[in-house]
Amino acid sequence: MSNEVKNSNKFISVVIPVFNEEENLPVLLERLVKILEQYNQYEIVFVNDGSTDSSESIIMEEGDKNKFIKLINLSRNFGHQTAITAGIANASGEAVIVMDADLQDPPEVIPQFVDKWCEGYDTVYAIRTKRKENFFKKTAYFVFYRLLSKISDVNIPLDSGDFSIMDRRIVDLMNQFPEKNCFVRGMRAWLGFKQTGLVYQRDQRFSGKPKYNFLSLLELSYDGIISFSKKPLQVASYFGICLTFLSFIGIIYLFLMKMYWGVAPRGWTSIIVIVIFIGGVQTMMIGIIGEYLARIYDEVKGRPYYLVRSSRNIEQKINNMKTNVK
Ligand code: UDP
Ligand code: MG
Repeated sequence: MSNEVKNSNKFISVVIPVFNEEENLPVLLERLVKILEQYNQYEIVFVNDGSTDSSESIIMEEGDKNKFIKLINLSRNFGHQTAITAGIANASGEAVIVMDADLQDPPEVIPQFVDKWCEGYDTVYAIRTKRKENFFKKTAYFVFYRLLSKISDVNIPLDSGDFSIMDRRIVDLMNQFPEKNCFVRGMRAWLGFKQTGLVYQRDQRFSGKPKYNFLSLLELSYDGIISFSKKPLQVASYFGICLTFLSFIGIIYLFLMKMYWGVAPRGWTSIIVIVIFIGGVQTMMIGIIGEYLARIYDEVKGRPYYLVRSSRNIEQKINNMKTNVK
């Protein structure tokens, strides 16, 4: 081959979560296999996250022709981040790449990832320069990443998604995390070791509709913020302290007015406004606490992360609940 890739002596795993991506899979596989064939050994671990279209049969057919195309069928739809986790837990390469099935992450970037990893980085994450999305989504992402990096307890790189390569030792460590609310890009940042970014241009979804709607994106951003920051809780308590202090001053002022100047303050409106304001703040704070509580509840229940219904071309014992049950 004329333009052979460097570092071709490696075993590379690619983990791809799939939820109703039948139109994208054939093109994805064609482009991906072309790149990966240049490596000594590779595997593509598709995690079928409860697809209802023909994604499963397409992957099965391809898997019959090429045993390096592997499939894990989850028992239902568990969500993007959980599907990635299931894939990572069952990948066996020296390095594991995570990418989406919709070709927004171009497979052609993979050799650059591998080269950076071979330079000695444990994790190389992709940083998007241009997003080909609508204005609303772009703005929402822009605000979210900046907010997250301001308030998060770990340094989560700006504009980096799940598209990345991770060394085997990072993957092994990640697999031991007992957390259920997984926000993969946050975990990756939290782990540390030697990390670097790789700039790339995020393409448009090749075909089909994005699986995230506004609410599920909001949920993901909540997961990101709440799993990696205690600041919202602290803000709640600071706010509470400030308001209590202010209301004390108000009470003293009103008391003095009445006692010494004999003025009974009028103003029904202002009182109502204040009552509503405090009521609103309190409800919001209880909401924030509730968000943390719900996540704690999820963790405490100790249910498995996900369940595997079946698999194809995976030789090792399947890690079907992430908890490393053997
Ligand atoms: N996905 C998944 N489960 C879900 C939603 C999405 O496995 O419940 C997969 C989807 O098939 C795709 C990737 O996650 O490969 C990213 O989804 P999408 O393109 O909808 O997200 P966006 O690009 O809008 O962030
Ligand atoms: Mg996408």
